[in-house]
Amino acid sequence: MFAFHGVDYLEVDSLLSDDEKLVRAMVREFVEKEVIPHIEGWNREGKFPRHLVPLMAQLGFFGANLQGYGCAGLSNLQYGLIMQELERGDSGLRSFVSVQGALVMYPISAYGSEEQKNRWLPALQQGNAIGCFGLTEPDFGSNPAGMRTRAVKDGGDYILNGEKTWITSGTIADVALVWARTTEGIRGFLVEKGAPGFSTQDIKGKWSLRASVTSTLSLQDVRVPASQMLPAAQGLKAPLGCLTQARYGIGWGAIGAAMACYNESLEYAKARKQFDDKPIATHQLVQAKFADMITEITKAQLLAVQVGRLKDAGRADFAHVSMLKRNNVKMALDVARAARDILGANGVADEYPIFRHMCNLESVFTYEGTHNIHTLIIGERVTGLPAYK
Ligand SMILES: Cc1cc2nc3c(=O)[nH]c(=O)nc-3n(C[C@H](O)[C@H](O)[C@H](O)COP(=O)(O)OP(=O)(O)OC[C@H]3O[C@@H](n4cnc5c(N)ncnc54)[C@H](O)[C@@H]3O)c2cc1C
Repeated sequence: MFAFHGVDYLEVDSLLSDDEKLVRAMVREFVEKEVIPHIEGWNREGKFPRHLVPLMAQLGFFGANLQGYGCAGLSNLQYGLIMQELERGDSGLRSFVSVQGALVMYPISAYGSEEQKNRWLPALQQGNAIGCFGLTEPDFGSNPAGMRTRAVKDGGDYILNGEKTWITSGTIADVALVWARTTEGIRGFLVEKGAPGFSTQDIKGKWSLRASVTSTLSLQDVRVPASQMLPAAQGLKAPLGCLTQARYGIGWGAIGAAMACYNESLEYAKARKQFDDKPIATHQLVQAKFADMITEITKAQLLAVQVGRLKDAGRADFAHVSMLKRNNVKMALDVARAARDILGANGVADEYPIFRHMCNLESVFTYEGTHNIHTLIIGERVTGLPAYK
């Protein structure tokens, strides 16, 4: 074990304020103390560290960049740094916080009624309630517009039928934000745990995000009062708006996973000796890997700071966030694979964090818009021509 002092080749820290660095230091300490000593065990057991929820709530992680209802009201840049530090611990933990804040609290805050906000936002912020976001279906992942889940009006209620899959925190959630097709287009419904006809099941056998709960949701004639529909969420742009919030945090989070892999492999390469008792770090081919890694991490940091500053100025849009998510997650996956190689056989053991990060990043590469989908979003932005079909 070695103390983590960050990765900063190009004085990127000089772009951060003291307040921003303070938030980062607080989360870094939490991760060092509460996550890193235990994460390999949780990952091996496939266990989500639920006992950390109250502490994370107390530290203000949930909905940290939202205002009011007990939320910390931090800037988007500070929020990004929280995600970065959490994901240096584990992408699964960061995923939990992303879903709770960006995919459940954000939509309630942006599209919910006052009653919905009062009921859920303080509880979710304090960790007294857990939320999940049900968009993906077995036959509709990258193309949620095709969703089959339906909500049919019946007096003052809606009746929901459908299946959602790959839903983070599904079985532990007290409230599921379920997106369903209605006669007025796609709408979001707050479905409570225990609602008759609503059931959840864990997806077993994952080799990725093992310290995070992933589930299926099944809705069979679930009766939901119209007051539990988000009034201002109308059409597919509403869930896509939530995804922009979550993807922003993921773009930062990936830097954390990359920093963990880079650091571990650097320490290893300086200590590991092969051929004439020389550390492997003295070999040019190994150094070339570090040159690539640190350059890509630094570019990712600069991209994240710029998108964060634009977001704080109200000028970041979904296509900017696509560039951040696409670049930084691919960068982190490449760094994790190179770092894995540097550790040789030890790189595949869970005594070291690299293989876990690498496996986690495969999910991160796929969820919240796959790498290909973000390529198409950027492609559409620069050409003006959609190429999804
Ligand atoms: C661990 C985990 C947690 C998740 N959590 C959630 C959650 O909380 N809530 C939720 O709603 N969803 C969640 N997801 C689902 C995730 O968002 C989807 O897996 C993702 O959108 C991709 O959908 P898919 O798996 O159906 O893949 P598909 O859409 O079938 O894509 C398969 C491949 O085809 C490519 N592809 C598809 N269409 C195109 C195209 N037009 N052009 C080029 N290539 C294309 C994709 O890029 C990909 O490489 C989670 C997934 C994982 C793995």
